Amino acid sequence: MPGGGVTKFRTCPPDQLSDALEKGLKRLCTDYVDAFSTHGISDFKQIERLRGWADQAKKSGWIDTVMFTYNFRLMNAPKMKAAVDACAQAGIGLTSFKTQAGGPVKADSEAEFKLLQKFLERGFTDKQAKLKAVWENPSIASICSQMPSLAFLSANVAAARDLKSLAKNDGDCLERFAAQIRTGYCAGCGRICQAAVGGKIPVNDVRRCLMYYKDYGDRELACDLFSGLPAVARQQPTEVDYAMAEKACPQGVAIARLMVEASPLLA
Ligand code: SF4
Repeated sequence: MPGGGVTKFRTCPPDQLSDALEKGLKRLCTDYVDAFSTHGISDFKQIERLRGWADQAKKSGWIDTVMFTYNFRLMNAPKMKAAVDACAQAGIGLTSFKTQAGGPVKADSEAEFKLLQKFLERGFTDKQAKLKAVWENPSIASICSQMPSLAFLSANVAAARDLKSLAKNDGDCLERFAAQIRTGYCAGCGRICQAAVGGKIPVNDVRRCLMYYKDYGDRELACDLFSGLPAVARQQPTEVDYAMAEKACPQGVAIARLMVEASPLLA
């Protein structure tokens, strides 16, 4: 049986972890994996709960790799830079996902149109520029990219094979663009907004379902995940006061408006 590979599971109770690993091994037709990633880690308590199981499953070491949201919108935040440097120094392999940071640039505003034009003139699309911005950090070992069609695969391969780097002002341009559109992007730091509503609503999970529904067009996945959320999140998401959560949100996301939008689509 060939060995190695990477598998990932959705968050599940510790007593189901061994089954999740077993299923991953079967799916990959292997008897071991190089990395076993967990989905949606949002606080340190969750990490500690996993640790006991992982110590049994793996006799040496603890965290070898981290897959995390990293893209042009987040890469310049001082805390993000410090975290990436700390992982690199500790020898932890970093895999970036959500590299497109919420979908393609839409040419419906002057700023976005100019950005799109600028990259097209340099010979790549805005999507390829976003990949390059991530690849140019030597601390990022790899990118995990959803490629639902050959068109996506071809565009990613073209970007990887094109050795032309982003110019300094391309990076500056992306950074300025990120600042302009900051409030339209949820960074996935769900523990902040969930704590601000007394733990009642997993805002980030609802937001992710909405993203699958609207941005990815995968309604089945969106509704399936939504149906697994706690009853209060499904039945009364608009009856909660999100003022404190909006105040705490580092991106300034209009959370209450997002819940109003999500509720009828996903229920
Ligand atoms: S809504 Fe704000 S606080 Fe909540 S996960 Fe998104 S960015 Fe973080």
